[in-house]
Amino acid sequence: MTGADRRGTRAQRLAMPLARNVVKDLAAEHGACQRPVQLRRTEIDTGYVEQVLLPCGHTLASVCPPCAERARILRATQCREGWHLDREPVIDPDPATAEQRALVTDRAEVQADRDALANEGLDAADLEERIGELDEQITDAGTRGNVLPNRSHRHRSTRRRQDAAPLPRRPVSSRTVGKTYTAPDGKTFRPSLFVTLTCPSYGRVCEDGAPADPDAYDYRQAARDALHFAALFDRFIQNLRRLVGYDLQYFAAVEPQRRLAPHVHIAIRGTISRAELREVIAATYHQVWWPSTETVKYDGGHLPVWDEHTGTYLDPSTGEVLPNWDEALDTIGGEDEPLHVARFGQRFDAQGVLAGSRDASRCIGYLTKYLTKHVGDCHQAATDAQATHAVRLSDALRYEPCSPTCANWLRYGIQPKKARPGLRPGCCKGKAHRREYLGYAGRRVLVSRKWSGKTLADHRADRRAWLTGMLGLPAIDPARYAWEPVKPGDPDHMPNGQRLLHVVADRIQWQTALEQARRRAAEAGLPATGRAA
Ligand SMILES: [Zn+2]
Ligand SMILES: [Zn+2]
Repeated sequence: MTGADRRGTRAQRLAMPLARNVVKDLAAEHGACQRPVQLRRTEIDTGYVEQVLLPCGHTLASVCPPCAERARILRATQCREGWHLDREPVIDPDPATAEQRALVTDRAEVQADRDALANEGLDAADLEERIGELDEQITDAGTRGNVLPNRSHRHRSTRRRQDAAPLPRRPVSSRTVGKTYTAPDGKTFRPSLFVTLTCPSYGRVCEDGAPADPDAYDYRQAARDALHFAALFDRFIQNLRRLVGYDLQYFAAVEPQRRLAPHVHIAIRGTISRAELREVIAATYHQVWWPSTETVKYDGGHLPVWDEHTGTYLDPSTGEVLPNWDEALDTIGGEDEPLHVARFGQRFDAQGVLAGSRDASRCIGYLTKYLTKHVGDCHQAATDAQATHAVRLSDALRYEPCSPTCANWLRYGIQPKKARPGLRPGCCKGKAHRREYLGYAGRRVLVSRKWSGKTLADHRADRRAWLTGMLGLPAIDPARYAWEPVKPGDPDHMPNGQRLLHVVADRIQWQTALEQARRRAAEAGLPATGRAA
C-alpha cells in the first residue's frame, strides 16, 4: 500500500482523530493537568538539573478539567472535615519574632510622643507619617491585622431601620462546636445544619427561571442585591452569632438559581431552630450608603474629562471640578435613604444533618457541585426567554456602580474613589459587570476561620503526605533545591504537547505504583483509605 492509499480519501482523513487531541483526551482520562507548568529544579549541592511539571491548579473546568475537579474534591474534604467537629480546632498563632516585637515597641513610643504633642494642640504630622511607616513595616514583618483599628473618619448612622425586627443579643463566647444531644438509649449525637438562603422575589418566574412578565421584573433590585450579596451574607453570620451566643462556624458556597439570582448553601456546625433562623433572616439587612444614582448627569458623548494638572475629572462644558467620592458621601444627609437595602427572601431551607450520614454526603455534593464553573455558566440559556433574561440582567448591571472605585460614578456626576484617567461609565473593568459573574464578584466559597482549623494548603499537604506515605517515598527537603520557571525562549523549554506526553507517562506510572501499594496494604491488612491526588 502506498502512502497516498494509507491516507485514504479526504472524508476518511477528516474522520481520523487529531493526534494532539488524543494526547489531551488521554491526559484527561488519567486526571493529568491539561496545561502543566514547567519548572527547572536545581539541586543546590550537586548542581543537578531536572525538569519538573506542575499542575496548573486552575479551579475552572473550562480551563483545566482535571485540576478543577481536584480543587473541587479538596473543597469537599475541607467541608466534610469541619462540619461535625467535636473538638475545638487548635489555631495558635506563632509567637512574635524579635523583629516584630522591636517594631511594635518603636510603634508604642512614637504613638506616646504623637499623643503628647496632639494633647498640647501641636502639629504631630511628622510623627503620624512615621506611625504609617511603622504600621507598614509591622505588617511586612508578618503580622496579621493592625496595631490599632483603622479609624474611619466617616460615621454613618447604624441605627436599625424601623422595619427591621429587633434581635435578642447574647454575648458571643469563643466556643465553636455545637451541642451534643443524648438519646433515651444513651447514644449521643451532634447534629449540624444545612441551610439555603435566597434573594427576595423580583417578579414571578416560569419553570425555566425566566420572568413571566419581563417588564414587571425588578432588574435593578436584582442587580443591586447580587452586587451586595457578600456583604449581606456577612451581616447574616454576625447576627446569627449574636443570637446563638457562640462563635458559629460555616462553610458556604454561592451559586446562581435558574432565575440567575445568587443563593447560598451553608453548612453550619451545630444546630439552630427554624424559628431562630427565621428571626435572624427577617432581622438581617445590609444598607448601602452610597451617593444617589437617581439622576444621569453624563451620557453618550457628553462625558466628564480628565484634567492632567489637578488629577481630577471636570465637566466637559463648564470645566467645573466634579465632587470627589468623599465630598459626595458628605452630601448624604440625615434624612436621606440608603442607595440600597439588601435582604434575603423570607423563604429558606434548613435541614439537620448527622455526621457521616448519606445526607451529609449529598449536601456536600450540593455545596461543591458548581464550584468548577463560572457563576454565569452554571445555567446555560436553552430558551429565548432565558437568553433575553440574561441580557436584561447584564444590561441592568452595566451602569450600576459595583464599588466606590467604579467608573460608573462619572455617569452620576461623581468622581469615583481613587479616580484615574481613562475611566468610562458603562465600561468599568470590575468583575461584577461581566456576563460570567452575574453581578456577584465575591468568593464562591466562604469559610469561617475556625471551620476545619486548616487552610486549603493544609488540606492539600495532608493529601500529599498520605500519598507519599502510601508510596513509601522519602520526604523532600525544600531547602535542597532552587526552582525557576522555564520560559518559552529557553533551550530546555518544552512545548505544551511535549509536556502533556510527559505528564501522561508520569501519571500512568504513579497510578500503577499506587495500585500496587494499595494491594500490598490490603494483603498486609493495613488500612488503605484516603483519596488519590
Ligand atoms: Zn491544570
Ligand atoms: Zn464597576
